[in-house]
Amino acid sequence: MAGQPPGRRALIIDTPPTSNGDLHVGHLAGPFMAADVHARYLRSTGRPVVFSSGTDDSQTYVLASARRKGLTPEELCGRSWHEIRRTLEGMGISLDGFAPYDDRYRASVLGFVGALHDAGKFELRKVRLPYSERTGEFLVEGLVCGYCPVCLVESRGGLCESCGHPNNFDELVEPRSTVDPGDAVTVREAEILVLPLERYRDRLTAYYRERESRLRPHTVQLVRELLAKPLPDFPVTYPVDWGIPAPFPETPGQVLNAWVEGIPAVMYCTAFAAEGLGERHDADDELWRAEESPEIIYFIGFDNVYFWGLTHVALLMAHEGRYALPDAIISNEFYELENAKFSTSLGHVLYTGDLLDEVPRDLIRFYLALSCPEHQQTNFSREALTKVTEERLVRPWNRLAGVLAKAAAEAGAEAGGTLAVSGEARRRAEAVLARFRTCYELPGYSLTRAANLVVAQLNRLLATARRLEGAGAGAEGLGDLFFEVRVLVSGASPILIDLAEAAAEEGGFSCGFDAGTSAVSEVAPFALPPLGAAGDAGIA
Ligand SMILES: [Zn+2]
Repeated sequence: MAGQPPGRRALIIDTPPTSNGDLHVGHLAGPFMAADVHARYLRSTGRPVVFSSGTDDSQTYVLASARRKGLTPEELCGRSWHEIRRTLEGMGISLDGFAPYDDRYRASVLGFVGALHDAGKFELRKVRLPYSERTGEFLVEGLVCGYCPVCLVESRGGLCESCGHPNNFDELVEPRSTVDPGDAVTVREAEILVLPLERYRDRLTAYYRERESRLRPHTVQLVRELLAKPLPDFPVTYPVDWGIPAPFPETPGQVLNAWVEGIPAVMYCTAFAAEGLGERHDADDELWRAEESPEIIYFIGFDNVYFWGLTHVALLMAHEGRYALPDAIISNEFYELENAKFSTSLGHVLYTGDLLDEVPRDLIRFYLALSCPEHQQTNFSREALTKVTEERLVRPWNRLAGVLAKAAAEAGAEAGGTLAVSGEARRRAEAVLARFRTCYELPGYSLTRAANLVVAQLNRLLATARRLEGAGAGAEGLGDLFFEVRVLVSGASPILIDLAEAAAEEGGFSCGFDAGTSAVSEVAPFALPPLGAAGDAGIA
């Protein structure tokens, strides 16, 4: 964030996806691209960054999906973890680590939750839970659906992805089993442990009073709605079979609610990623401790704001000052596919891996940046991807590359060296970089504005190139043009990762956003690498 000491470490968290299948383009257009671009930007400004994720294997959604697919949950998780990691790598998501769900993960969770239990932060509650009479199972979270008690839209248990409000216990209207929708669902009593969120009301209110101006409007609205009524108890344990066994004497045979694992899971992911960067720490929660003063930034879908923004912050607060609290929560809305909701069960889905087989990833990244659902629902269209990338990026870029290649060849042959850069070009470059910084920094962060800025600057430089075309190697302004193309490459570098790397290598410069441009007085001409079109996967 602007104005912070350059050395403050940023912990960037892509909240772990559920391991019940590969990632589709909706996942990428949401938190993953946004987090990656921000991480790349911060690194390029010299900030220390740990960017991490993993998978959320304890979710009941895994159990429900595995049953529908005829797999064991363990098989589905194992397969999904590899698929997700491969997809993230394929898209160039620059995670410093993608943590496995293993014994160390479980130990982190039990350490975090066990300390809260020992400190008396949880309370035993008798609650009523949906129950399948046929299977004899309690139905919670991903195992049950019905209508949300707040907005009366179809919802799963625990949380409504439409309005973002929680539904607890027996609150779903007309509950049904997601695995066997024909099963009779009744309600039975159970004794579980909860975290009474209402106890954290004052601290949560103060927390949001401080951050409200930095949150996206829909998140602000949800937080206001939640704080306007009594905060519900957050279930810590559930009497179901899938998850980490809860080690508490009050709830024998129960497991931890998967959502309780969120914070210790990302602490562990952070530690795992820091190790990938060559660091060693004594404990998996060390980088999250208050004395480390990290800047913690979440990138999450709106449907996860209640958990990551309320219950998980309360869990951190329950540790009474041991941990830093998240600085920023960057939420995104839903992304549609060809004007219909993504639906894995209906087969209406486009997996990122399949798209990568056809389209160079820079073009996918550019289109996702332009169309991502930052503030409201947006749409992915394969036809639009081809048209938009061709018209706004590939064609003008390659035209510019053609002019520069010719100019570079002539300048290399005739001048044999460098070209002068004017003070006016340096001032224009400063202005352009300042606009890119505005797009990439919090709280005004916007991938869409950044992608549009790339287009606008590309068009301006192409117009200049056309004027200079044919004027020969000695043309006035040619050095300015090469210099400003370098600046454009820098500005685009967090999005167009392969192009920026190739251009920087060709031009012998490094991409960056600082004011070092003010010292540049000459530039070596270079051949700008061309962009492959959609349909040319692998040709960057
Ligand atoms: Zn709802």
